[in-house]
Amino acid sequence: MDSLIDGYRRFRARRWPAERQLYESLAENQKPKTFVISCCDSRVDPATIFNARPGELFVARNVANLVPPFEQSGSYHGTSAAIEFAVTAVQVERILVLGHARCGGVAAALSKSDLTPGSFLSEWIKLLDTALVRCENITEDRHTEVERESVRLSLERLRAFPFVAEAIRTRGLQLQGAHFGIIDGKLEWLDPVSGRFEVVD
Ligand SMILES: [Zn+2]
Repeated sequence: MDSLIDGYRRFRARRWPAERQLYESLAENQKPKTFVISCCDSRVDPATIFNARPGELFVARNVANLVPPFEQSGSYHGTSAAIEFAVTAVQVERILVLGHARCGGVAAALSKSDLTPGSFLSEWIKLLDTALVRCENITEDRHTEVERESVRLSLERLRAFPFVAEAIRTRGLQLQGAHFGIIDGKLEWLDPVSGRFEVVD
């Protein structure tokens, strides 16, 4: 049995009957309040971590949960398009950048040796360069500090998107950061005042 088909059949048999009405109510329109930018990592599923039901989270996932700089070139900006859609069309009330422990993208940026020069991954991971520079004097658990710093950096870049800045100003859009510790299952939340990540009780 194909594991995906098997999983689908269990979904149809067990979960669908319980959530059928919810799906029907969502069929006409979705109105999620939160947009999560998270990593592709299979261990970091936002809906699982936040115990969210269908319709609650609008999610974009990419390698190392990164926000690229705002650019006006005509290239294919998948993450930027998701940000634009979430803010201008879905009108989410907050954006959460969710980092995580043991991030392979951060590990690749720190080692560099494993990357093929000029590859998509090599270019994408360059978005972490600023975080690497900011953490270069950190000697203890530098990997985790780069993960946290990249969340701060992505939040800074988000504020530079004109439609994000406008939504913050005109309708109180909130930008938040968090870091999920895969091994202990604990979530750290970025305190906007202190700039530190604090474990959620
Ligand atoms: Zn990751």
